[in-house]
Amino acid sequence: MANLKLSHIYKVYDNGHKAVNDFSIDIADREFIVFVGPSGCGKSTTLRMIAGLETITAGDLLIGDTLVNDMEPKDRDIAMVFQSYALYPHMTVYENMAFGLRNRKMPEKEIKERVMKAAKILDIEDYLDRKPKAMSGGQRQRVALGRALVRDPKVFLLDEPLSNLDAKLRAAMRTEIAALHKSLNTTFIYVTHDQVEAMTMGTRIVVMKLGYVQQIDTPMNLYNEPYNKFVAGFIGTPQMNFFDVKLQREGDKVTVIFANGDKVSVPYENVSKIHNRYLNGDVQVTFGIRPEHIMVNKEGRGMKFVVTNVEHLGNGSIVYGKLGDHLGEFSMKDEGNSIIVNVVDCKDINVGDIVYAEPNPNKVHFFDAETEVTLMNKIPEYNTIRAKANGDRMTVLNANVLLPEAFKKALGNADCFDLVVPPHAIVAGNDFQLKVARIENVDDKHLAYLQNGDSYLFALVDESVQAGDTYHFSFENEKLNLNVDDQEVLKAIDDEVSLMGTFSKKELKENHDRVLHFFYNIGNYTLETAPEQGYKINSIDGDNCYKYTYRYAINRNAIRLAEEGEAGLDGRVVEFCEYGNIRFAKVEADGQEFLIKVDPAFDSEMVRIAMDSKDVSVYSTRIDMKIC
Ligand code: ADP
Repeated sequence: MANLKLSHIYKVYDNGHKAVNDFSIDIADREFIVFVGPSGCGKSTTLRMIAGLETITAGDLLIGDTLVNDMEPKDRDIAMVFQSYALYPHMTVYENMAFGLRNRKMPEKEIKERVMKAAKILDIEDYLDRKPKAMSGGQRQRVALGRALVRDPKVFLLDEPLSNLDAKLRAAMRTEIAALHKSLNTTFIYVTHDQVEAMTMGTRIVVMKLGYVQQIDTPMNLYNEPYNKFVAGFIGTPQMNFFDVKLQREGDKVTVIFANGDKVSVPYENVSKIHNRYLNGDVQVTFGIRPEHIMVNKEGRGMKFVVTNVEHLGNGSIVYGKLGDHLGEFSMKDEGNSIIVNVVDCKDINVGDIVYAEPNPNKVHFFDAETEVTLMNKIPEYNTIRAKANGDRMTVLNANVLLPEAFKKALGNADCFDLVVPPHAIVAGNDFQLKVARIENVDDKHLAYLQNGDSYLFALVDESVQAGDTYHFSFENEKLNLNVDDQEVLKAIDDEVSLMGTFSKKELKENHDRVLHFFYNIGNYTLETAPEQGYKINSIDGDNCYKYTYRYAINRNAIRLAEEGEAGLDGRVVEFCEYGNIRFAKVEADGQEFLIKVDPAFDSEMVRIAMDSKDVSVYSTRIDMKIC
């Protein structure tokens, strides 16, 4: 039994191929995690890194509380089951299962106990004397599982274990493996390219594409709230339908307008998380609706389509069709206008019929046409709020508040502008007030829908805030973007400062021993770092690490002015940026420019800044990769 932690794991193969990028997950003890995605997305590579069969390029892998990056596979207390059963053909089932334990010099008596116990669990007691070739695929796979089981490992890794079996056997083994997981109370990590397998077995699923994690969630959340079009299309059969549409809000309704002019409408309340800028009828978006969330009718409700095929499955049917073009004509050639509908009863739907598809308005999905990310993020990324500058003040949300100096500078002569406000930049305060229309719990956060005219302002609030309350709040001004006529004139200040620098080592004699010390060098600043970090950088880049440039990222709050006599990076303040109650100094040092938070009273021209090496993250500048 064990929990696992993968933290910013990367795999770059020797040929330079980046197979896994920034993979992070906390796996709780006894979870059944499934890695799923198309072939080549990095599933097996990740699994093999966990097993210790592949080196980890960067990142930390912890089993329990132990860092195991460099631990031998045999010492990790992990058992792996492969797609090819990898059984020894000349040995009996019993010998195959006992082999690993004998290698470990376990007493025969205990080996026998373990093999018999595993054979019982897997229902292969009657086959112990057989050789693998005299067994079916399903039985062989059970022996392979048994060989892992007898080791009583902390973690089971399974790499496409069922892909050599026929469909019926796969379904049966799926149930068996799920039951095995329940009875063993062990952590399982299972790799498959088959989304049905993933959905039926996993407590949580990691969906991957081209080496990147797309979403980590429970099966139901992946199905109901896919983060992007890829996940939406990958999970569920038949696949979700996608259409190019535009959205137009009219009062409490949003009309979905198809390329051919067909329209369906959904209540605004269902899609209120979609940013207003997508609701003006101008912006192309992708509409997604699953085949099982469409009703077919002949009365003209919804999108008109011609039926091109009907598949009867017994318990229902799948209807395939094509939407009409803008003249209402149906062409079989156009690829983009297909529709698939699951229907329970299709007695009177025949090929060639012209019918209508009515989407369930509670099950609609919308994605940005370019980024393919959902427009209905659980926590909307930002709110846009109209503001008007007037001398040193601005009018926002019916309140007249101080216009921060930094905003004033960025605006120039403009007086009308938009504040782009992420929900986390809205904090309890005295500047504004709005009524709380609704509170939604999203994971462990509380999302407030603040009633702002006929739409909502989204804010993260603490649990004491209730629907019906009047919420008093302010903005953290430095976290806002400013737009004039949709052009960004001021960017939010992010949490990190990036500084470019080099890396060095020094060998020092300490009590007759030679000890290596490692340093981050930024301009005149030499910051000693913990040996672990030094060895990590060296293990990734070899001795070239002393020639390369690195990007050092430091949380802005961790940058401070150096104490008297302390080493630091010397710089000159080029200007101050006032954000109301927060002041930043723009510092120029070593040819680099960055902002640091300073005291309101601070006004020196020369600064020396310092930080703790534990607050510094190191990024490679050759491959986009966090090293430590
Ligand atoms: P999956 O298990 O999702 O099918 P893999 O983890 O096997 O994918 O592979 C991920 C990517 O890494 C693929 O593009 C594959 O070609 C590449 N790859 C796998 N092994 C190696 C290797 N030893 N050297 C270079 N590239 C590799």
